[in-house]
Amino acid sequence: MKIAVCLKQVPDTLEIDIEPETGRIMREKVRGVINPYDLHALEEAVKIKETTKGRVFAFTMGPQQSESILREALSKGADEGFLLSGREFAGSDTLATSKALAEALRRISPDIIICGKQAVDGDTAQVGPGIAAHLDIPFAAFVSRVIKINQKKIIIERLSDSGKEILESVLPFLMTVVRECNTPRPAGINSMLFALSCTLKHINASDLGLTPDNSGLTGSPTSVASISVAEHKKQCRRLSSADIKNYELVVNLAKAALQ
Ligand SMILES: Cc1cc2nc3c(=O)[nH]c(=O)nc-3n(C[C@H](O)[C@H](O)[C@H](O)COP(=O)(O)OP(=O)(O)OC[C@H]3O[C@@H](n4cnc5c(N)ncnc54)[C@H](O)[C@@H]3O)c2cc1C
Repeated sequence: MKIAVCLKQVPDTLEIDIEPETGRIMREKVRGVINPYDLHALEEAVKIKETTKGRVFAFTMGPQQSESILREALSKGADEGFLLSGREFAGSDTLATSKALAEALRRISPDIIICGKQAVDGDTAQVGPGIAAHLDIPFAAFVSRVIKINQKKIIIERLSDSGKEILESVLPFLMTVVRECNTPRPAGINSMLFALSCTLKHINASDLGLTPDNSGLTGSPTSVASISVAEHKKQCRRLSSADIKNYELVVNLAKAALQ
């Protein structure tokens, strides 16, 4: 079974620099780590590999330094790493990002594609469903457990607003996973050494048959109009046990907080 996992490199800091004119995160200046939800996607991929005797293909789209997260993925059980990188991808919105990843994934025809539920920087949760739409395959978001998988179908549990749903799908299938689905394993020394010796596959836009019409800034129909840090106007007030018994005070504070 071919299992693909999509990993995004996100800044390892809350001190993110934003380019004022474009609203773009200046990723070149900060150390990148695997998006935390994607660690769970990777772990799920490796678990499926172990039960189905499969192979895990890790994909990331980002600058050259995203190589480090592919090597980390290799040290934690992935078998091959693919880096989509190049100027042509710069400025991609979620549509162009999911298109590029979908085209790269199409070339290995995975049986299952696993993404994190969202990236902690961009936060849109659109890329996973976007890839499934480009590939025209079924998908489920917020998957909390893989109940059963074989060469033809998968049964999963997903979180919904009203509780949990059990769904069955044919393969190929894409799922985005939540933290609850597993506990990511640490890498061992031997696997770290293996990861350092692996050759990563580099892919650019023309390898994928992409043109400026459907990749990068010009292939991105959305744009960031502005971006700013939220202003915290409300203040915290500590209530004593006597305050809490004062019904009128509590009601007035609640009303003020809602204004
Ligand atoms: C108008 C616009 C312009 C932008 N310009 C730039 C820019 O110039 N430079 C820039 O770096 N970013 C840019 N971005 C951000 C970029 O589009 C997003 O980082 C990217 O589409 C992922 O979206 P997200 O962070 O919301 O991921 P989500 O949709 O929240 O991620 C969900 C899951 O999808 C997968 N995934 C997401 N992104 C990737 C990836 N890159 N590689 C592999 N897997 C992935 C992961 O599994 C992740 O857990 C721009 C966004 C917009 C809307």
